[in-house]
Amino acid sequence: MILILFGPPGAGKGTQADLLKEKHNLLHLSTGDILREEVSNNTQLGIEAKKFMDSGELVTDDLIIGMIKNKIESTTNVNGFLFDGFPRTISQAEALDLMLIESNKEIDKVISLEVDDNVLTKRLLSRGRSDDNEITIKNRLDVYKNQTLPIKDFYKNSNKLLEIKGDSSIEEVSSEIEKLL
Ligand code: ADP
Repeated sequence: MILILFGPPGAGKGTQADLLKEKHNLLHLSTGDILREEVSNNTQLGIEAKKFMDSGELVTDDLIIGMIKNKIESTTNVNGFLFDGFPRTISQAEALDLMLIESNKEIDKVISLEVDDNVLTKRLLSRGRSDDNEITIKNRLDVYKNQTLPIKDFYKNSNKLLEIKGDSSIEEVSSEIEKLL
């Protein structure tokens, strides 16, 4: 099973990912989490990525695609993958399709969590991660609209998209997802 969690920063992807990976025995691949780990380990990739992350810009496609490829190729014994925060550009989406074709797999569903901007900003400000200040948040939301939102049509056309209202409780969002899966 291959699922993609899609939605703006603060939509609740991480929270729902924790529930989904347990229920379906999936490997959760959050590019944000992987990048933050690289940053804290001071790896070459982390050093390269940090400047983009601190300003709310996207890390370059090459770095992200290479990173995901490594993870997929080095993983065994799972029921599938749960992508969170990836793909975030059309070219990442195309690269993912190619990787999956090479290993005879395909995306099952793209779960899109829909939440209003003002709710998102409030949630992010109360989360308090180091890149969660008002200026960076605004930039991340703009980057999302310009570079990431266009992928939705890419998946809508292939009938894989599940649109879910993400502003109700964690349990309600989760049961809506399970119902539609
Ligand atoms: P959020 O959803 O709150 O924006 P993430 O944890 O998903 O947070 O990502 C944090 C930062 O990591 C992003 O602002 C971006 O700089 C970088 N990043 C994460 N995933 C990707 C990706 N797929 N492509 C490019 N940059 C990414």
